[in-house]
Amino acid sequence: MTPLQPPSLTPSELASPIPAPQPGWFDSWQDAKAYIDAHGMEHGYAVTSTHGDDKKNGKLKLACDRAAKYDNLSGISENEKLKKKSSRKCGCRMYILARKHPNDRWELMIKHERHNHEPSHDMASHPTLRRLNADALDQIATMMMNRVPPRAQTAVI
Ligand SMILES: [Zn+2]
Repeated sequence: MTPLQPPSLTPSELASPIPAPQPGWFDSWQDAKAYIDAHGMEHGYAVTSTHGDDKKNGKLKLACDRAAKYDNLSGISENEKLKKKSSRKCGCRMYILARKHPNDRWELMIKHERHNHEPSHDMASHPTLRRLNADALDQIATMMMNRVPPRAQTAVI
């Protein structure tokens, strides 16, 4: 165990090839979500909002869509429930939190950066990602190059 790895990581998390997104600052939660969607599309995962999601109070919680199923999801359609049932859940713990600060900007924090599974090669099974087109991805890449703080880049090493 090296000091760089939190001791709570499981072997399957240590073996997962999916890289973590970078923390950073965004003008809106939509921008933050768009960045995570684009990162997931590139690396083979998708995130969904969870019951900890409270955008009105400046909090957005996004978890890997292969997390264990939440029992207390409310307000989702029968169609959504079917989709959730048919996707492969494996208890992935990867999740991200975006918090709104008094300056109206959203800070993106990677709370659990490791997945415990291989990337998905069938991104068509992630409905939220199909809406992104190449132009949007280019825009997001440009946005991130301007915004990633230097300390986030050194954290990878
Ligand atoms: Zn995952």
